[in-house]
Amino acid sequence: MSETDAGRLASLVSRARSRAARPDADADRIRRLLAEEGDQIKANTRHFNAERYDRIDEIGAERHERYRTRAREIKADAIERLPELIDRVRESVADNGGTVYIADDAADAREYVAEVSEGADAERVVKSKSMTTEEIDLNEGLEARGLDIWETDLGEFVIQVAEESPSHIVGPSLHKSREEITDLFEAQFDPEESLDSAQALTEFAREYLGERIEAADVGITGANFVLADSGSIALVTNEGNARKCASVPDTHVAVAGVEKIIPSIEELHPFAELIARSATGQAIPQYLSLLSPPVDTPAVDFDSPDEPGFGGSDAERDFHLVLVDNGRTEMREDDDLRETLYCIRCGACANSCANFQSVGGHAFGGETYTGGIATGWEAGVEGLDAAAEFNDLCTGCSRCVNACPVKIDIPWINTVVRDRINRGKDPGLEDVLVDGLVPDAEEPGTPLRKRFFGNFETVAKVGSATAPVSNTIASLTPVRRALDAGLGIDVRRELPAFQRETLVEWAEGRATVDDPERRVVLYPDVYTNYVQPERGKAAVRTLEALGCAVTVPDVGGSGRAPLSQGMIATARDKAERLAADLGDHLDAGRDVVVVEPSALAMVRREYEKLLPAATYERLDDASYEVFEYVYGLLENGAAPDALTAGDGDGVAYHSHCQQRTLGLESHTVAVLEELGYDVLTSDVECCGMAGSFGYKSEYYELSVDVGESLADQFEDTDRTVVASGTSCTDQIEALLATEARHPIRLVAP
Ligand code: SF4
Repeated sequence: MSETDAGRLASLVSRARSRAARPDADADRIRRLLAEEGDQIKANTRHFNAERYDRIDEIGAERHERYRTRAREIKADAIERLPELIDRVRESVADNGGTVYIADDAADAREYVAEVSEGADAERVVKSKSMTTEEIDLNEGLEARGLDIWETDLGEFVIQVAEESPSHIVGPSLHKSREEITDLFEAQFDPEESLDSAQALTEFAREYLGERIEAADVGITGANFVLADSGSIALVTNEGNARKCASVPDTHVAVAGVEKIIPSIEELHPFAELIARSATGQAIPQYLSLLSPPVDTPAVDFDSPDEPGFGGSDAERDFHLVLVDNGRTEMREDDDLRETLYCIRCGACANSCANFQSVGGHAFGGETYTGGIATGWEAGVEGLDAAAEFNDLCTGCSRCVNACPVKIDIPWINTVVRDRINRGKDPGLEDVLVDGLVPDAEEPGTPLRKRFFGNFETVAKVGSATAPVSNTIASLTPVRRALDAGLGIDVRRELPAFQRETLVEWAEGRATVDDPERRVVLYPDVYTNYVQPERGKAAVRTLEALGCAVTVPDVGGSGRAPLSQGMIATARDKAERLAADLGDHLDAGRDVVVVEPSALAMVRREYEKLLPAATYERLDDASYEVFEYVYGLLENGAAPDALTAGDGDGVAYHSHCQQRTLGLESHTVAVLEELGYDVLTSDVECCGMAGSFGYKSEYYELSVDVGESLADQFEDTDRTVVASGTSCTDQIEALLATEARHPIRLVAP
């Protein structure tokens, strides 16, 4: 290599390194938050998540699903009719004696609220919890005008005193323990008595804030829902402070995003059923207040507490509803971000997210919003740069999809935003190099590391064709260091070992069942074909034992790898190619059976976004997860004694996150139990590996932290450990130093 070549290579590596999107600052921040806030966030979010499951069980999944379906219909309709509903709200609030102001952006909203406050000669303002006022930095705006602002929601009050930002959209101080809050309050307020219990803290806050509410000139609330036909606002709280803020001061300002409007009280019911159950796992919220401000009751005179009606001050009541746009109109016109506006801000997507459970909203969040849906909100109201700060923390595990009460496809929003972030980068020298090497459909500028992981199929093809040499080279320390430096692949992770003989090669020319019951295509996904062909072989043997003729065609990847990196154009190409290749088999009457759950989830969920409707539906109808198919065969009369029986053997089983979102965990358990295995299942949402996520240097500790929850459940077991996903088996083997196999290998003859 000449000196010039060496110089160019060094420059390339250095640029690649800086473009590899693995700033050490991110790694340090995540490490710090795991240590400082992780335990508390974990305890609280998991508690909410577990309670959510329990409350849904109480009313039954079917009823819960009916509410979700209806709630989504209502939001979709309301966003569609938004201009008309805004006009209706203007009229109804005016009829009630109030004023509606549409604020174009945050500055406009702040200015209006400041003018209203100054018009009321206000000195003190009290607020109830409102994410929209966080979004527009209302407190800072009013403080700059000399106003004294007090948060009256206990969680917000804690955050205000601590001068921190919220870590969760429902529980802003969720990252703080009771002991930390005691220390904070005692240092700040120097109370006469110790605040060393939750009750003492609550009583202190109630008295302290009560005095401020009594003396307030303006009360500011949010609005969970705005009812267009009556001009009423619905406030959902657990503390009742919002009602006080709305009704004690003479002037009430409600600040809400324009998307909070629903047509009438008729449409409120499903949300009333869903919101607390989804948020904190309560059957109903402590307070659901319906106000049609300005309220009728006379303003309170606290100087005459003994007189009827507290003296009945005759001060005029004033009400302003500030509807904030701040990017929402553009979101409404954006086919991919539009669903974000259906969000009712319950936080279930955060509580059900394994990464969020470990690290919380100070890492998994932007300027204002936290958790899964935060990417959509931050991209919409702040811009892509704000979303880029944390977008990669979504692994696409999809556990939030079933948790969301309005069925927002949160992983898709995260993927679309990731794609847009990729496209916003300037092309570099390495793009020229990569463009010649990889067959993807991305534009120059997509970060090198994303293209590496997104083109894993090409890497696997080359790795397999040159195995075992490729595996030996990849394990050399200088190579691992170079991969870490250039691509941010953590040296502590064992790399996948490629197999020289692929599943397709093994199956080529293999005799199959004569006169079969059914004809099957076993889809050789990238991991099964190149890395774990043994589970593919086991699937073939199992299906043949149950009377199926099995074909393993030489077809391409599902597109999961590029999609996970936000490379939508490449994923769409792969989806189209696979649909065309499998189309011939569908024409021949074959069913498609898939071993890797993340590949099946592509076909069942993401292909709906990537393919024409008829193509998607045909493939979706004909595709099955391997145990789902085996279960169906057994239910339809296939003989279980053709498979390997368990004879009471203990099995510890972890199903893949995307498999559970598709509702397919139960088939594996049912088949194993029918065959005589004693099955213990894990209840963690995700293994934490999630494809490439666990390999990335800045996320290694987070990935391990998430995985340890799974490892803890199986740690002391003498059962055989099985897991459905490649990532899951890799993570379990790394953390437990025990073999973890796909369950099909247990039951195959
Ligand atoms: S996206 Fe869904 S789950 Fe997440 S906060 Fe919004 S409504 Fe709740």
